[in-house]
Amino acid sequence: SKNILEVRDLKVSFRTYAGEVQAVRGVSFDLKKGEVLAIVGESGCGKSVTAQTIMRLIPTPPSMIKSGSIKFDGKTEITKISNREMEKIRGSEMGMIFQDPMTSLNPTMTIGKQIAEGLIKHQGLSASEARKRAVEILKMVGISNPEGRITQYPHEFSGGMRQRVMIAIALACNPKLLIADEPTTALDVTIQAQIIELMKKLSEQTEASIIVITHDLGVVAEMAQRVIVMYAGKVVEQGTVDELFYDSKHPYTWGLLRSVPRLDQDKDGELVPIPGTPPDLFAPPKGCAFAARCPYAMKACLEVDPEHTKLSETHSAACWLLHPDAPKVERPVEAGG
Ligand code: SF4
Ligand code: MG
Repeated sequence: SKNILEVRDLKVSFRTYAGEVQAVRGVSFDLKKGEVLAIVGESGCGKSVTAQTIMRLIPTPPSMIKSGSIKFDGKTEITKISNREMEKIRGSEMGMIFQDPMTSLNPTMTIGKQIAEGLIKHQGLSASEARKRAVEILKMVGISNPEGRITQYPHEFSGGMRQRVMIAIALACNPKLLIADEPTTALDVTIQAQIIELMKKLSEQTEASIIVITHDLGVVAEMAQRVIVMYAGKVVEQGTVDELFYDSKHPYTWGLLRSVPRLDQDKDGELVPIPGTPPDLFAPPKGCAFAARCPYAMKACLEVDPEHTKLSETHSAACWLLHPDAPKVERPVEAGG
């Protein structure tokens, strides 16, 4: 298979005291080998839950995979395998980079040990081989004096350096899939740019496919080849980076593009936040979930949730404006392009 990942109609819910939250409501996408895919959307849109479900990092219960399939590397059905098999895959074929390295690193263990741990456990390396690999990988992520650094603890590293360590841990076992959830959000702007640069370089050097989850379209433009836009637990638009930035068709994507600063645009360009809030996922609306915030909403939008319309081999969007009988609307010019 040329796809490292095939996700089909994935539905994930959480049981809470107040009822069931439908966090992911039928998500489908492919990830090609070596590809960098961005998943964007506001907080609560289901992007992190999707990623954590792929890595089976959310506890079940209270979360439940209601339906759908996640096929990894053409053979493994992630929704079906045992916890033990999943743990093995996570230690050798998948890696995850989180937003806040301080909460995911062990404060009582040296950096060297934390990198070596997985290599010894999952790859059968000896302690000295693992140590050698740890030094190598720290060098690869741009940490100077790695021989000295491996005996240090997380608190002895700056925020940006800790994120490099997290990336080193995720990369140590040569994963086929790397998932980075808001990898730069907790960092200041110059460090953000350095981490993006590093991840870009590593994605070119290693064969790993990468899913980067972000609300930051600057990160998307810098790193990704393809983009999925999620809203209220569904994919509302997907396409190449060019299709999304210059030819997007979904009003929510237009709103996203206008609500964040663009790297290639001067900073005093007008930023317009999307008014309103996403729908309650205890009881999602029956029509288009964006209707309450959409300036173009029509009667049909409130009644029936639109299917995806295919716009090119790589581009599709779920919006009634793409129906042949819909009134023609112009994409707002300030949306970029
Ligand atoms: Fe707006 Fe209707 Fe398109 Fe939804 S389907 S984004 S409400 S125009
Ligand atoms: Mg998140």
